[in-house]
Amino acid sequence: MIPREKTEAIQLLILDVDGVLTDGQIILTEQGEEIKSFYAKDGHGLRMLMDEGIEVILISGRRSKAVDCRAKDLGIREVHQGIRDKGPLCKKIIHQRGLNKKQVCCVGDDLPDIPLFENAGICFAVSDASPVLKGLADYVTKHKGGYGAVREVCEIILESRQNSSLHTGP
Ligand SMILES: [Mg+2]
Repeated sequence: MIPREKTEAIQLLILDVDGVLTDGQIILTEQGEEIKSFYAKDGHGLRMLMDEGIEVILISGRRSKAVDCRAKDLGIREVHQGIRDKGPLCKKIIHQRGLNKKQVCCVGDDLPDIPLFENAGICFAVSDASPVLKGLADYVTKHKGGYGAVREVCEIILESRQNSSLHTGP
């Protein structure tokens, strides 16, 4: 398990999209629009996390309207798409908020997410992530991307915080 002090510090969760919030499949219509499949339980987990005051930001290498729609649906206000190099953007986001590395958590599934891992204090790889990413992660989820991995991350963070309030409360 991740030490409680580490999850308590989290203020920001940065998520990759394809392979993390989805199973990584990209379905294209004849018009070239992307169809993606999201997991309802992930969405509820993210809502609970945001209710706890943790900000959620999406950073995707691709671009699709479906991602904007899903983010809007969940009340995620900041979404960055078409980002080839996630490192500089990640640094900028963290700097803008005056956060340090320990306050940032990220979830990824593939090599373009390595820069996220380099800038976050707690790094999760989904269970079907590339072996390199799994090797770099602090924690590998039991669930696959698009099938509850993000919900699992949310629950780990929330449960840890609840336990902590039980221990330190009046
Ligand atoms: Mg991905």
